Amino acid sequence: IKLSSSQIQEKETSFTSGVYSKRPVVIIRGKGAHLWDADGKDYIDCVGGQGAANIGHANPVIAEAIYKQAQNLISCPEMFYNDQRALLIEKLCTTANMSRVFLCNSGTEAVEAGIKFARLLTGRTEIVAAMRGFHGRTFGALSATWEKKYRAPFEPLVPGYKHIPYNDLDALKQAVTDQTAAVLLEVVQGEGGVNPGKTEFMLGAREICRQTGALLVLDEVQTGFGRTGKMFAFQHDNLDPDILCVAKSIGGGIPMGAALLSSTMKDLQPQVHGSTFGGNPLACAASIAAIDYLQNNHLPERAAELGEWFKSQLSTIQSPLIREVRGKGLMVGIELKQKVTPYLQKLMDLGVMALPAGLTVMRFLPPLVIEKSDLEIVVDKVAQVLTSNIE
Ligand code: PMP
Repeated sequence: IKLSSSQIQEKETSFTSGVYSKRPVVIIRGKGAHLWDADGKDYIDCVGGQGAANIGHANPVIAEAIYKQAQNLISCPEMFYNDQRALLIEKLCTTANMSRVFLCNSGTEAVEAGIKFARLLTGRTEIVAAMRGFHGRTFGALSATWEKKYRAPFEPLVPGYKHIPYNDLDALKQAVTDQTAAVLLEVVQGEGGVNPGKTEFMLGAREICRQTGALLVLDEVQTGFGRTGKMFAFQHDNLDPDILCVAKSIGGGIPMGAALLSSTMKDLQPQVHGSTFGGNPLACAASIAAIDYLQNNHLPERAAELGEWFKSQLSTIQSPLIREVRGKGLMVGIELKQKVTPYLQKLMDLGVMALPAGLTVMRFLPPLVIEKSDLEIVVDKVAQVLTSNIE
């Protein structure tokens, strides 16, 4: 059945739970860093599947891996061993220099697992996280998330969480006690406004954890898999997390998440945690192909190079609306002096998709395969939007 754009929107509106605020556009096809709507309009995509599309849309390598695996085996719970899972968890450990892996299906599950493991491994219950941090929507992860509008409707949340100002080492020192199980941090805050963690803060957090016996749990759900110019953002500062939570682009667009444990962590006991779909062969095959593609095509390096250039170009835009341009690799934000939503709408009208981060930041998470010529167009359109009048 071929539905028109308005029919699709009507149907979704009629049957959806309503928890998403939507843009009035129907996306039906993607290729690389481009998306097309139901009317055939071509967009340059700087939403990048909210960070899940680092290797580009409709990447044939993923399509082939999925098709091949789907013909062989899709479901295989972790009560059995499996070839694809074995290959993936070894590859993850090698790539991230970690020792053990728990596989799940999303970012929130990866963080939830990270928090539960930190409590198991330390026998402590307190979690220290950062203001403006975002870690997911399940109760454990939500309790670590800062934004009030996500938290307030679900209180009471899990007890024992504290939030300190991001990049404030003194505040962190004061918050961590002998009851702290984990210090949970993003390496660059994504949803909270594209705020890069300072090297001295990250290294300081590492040291505080070492001294107090708390675990350093890094949430690289958004920053992982090349986004910031390294395979993992913690590699910029040579950090060694105790637990690393990843998701989004790990699966080339297929749902996948993972909590990785360092070599200093004790083994976990059978049955303490689990997931039906976690580690299924289909998602594992897609993840192997996605990681290979990132590495074989040097996409982290490409993100570093293109990202620097993109940031420098955006910084030349002369607009009284701009407070700051910042970011790392191809994770870039423009902080405005006012609400960003109308400018994102205008940008979309001009054929460029971008995301908000908080109320005032325009965020760009393009697939890392994006052409420089497309980024030139993005700079041009952003300049146009931020230098024209919007009422
Ligand atoms: N952590 C971070 C840093 C994220 O950016 C997100 C998603 N935006 C999550 C966790 C939650 O991931 P998911 O939506 O896959 O559950």
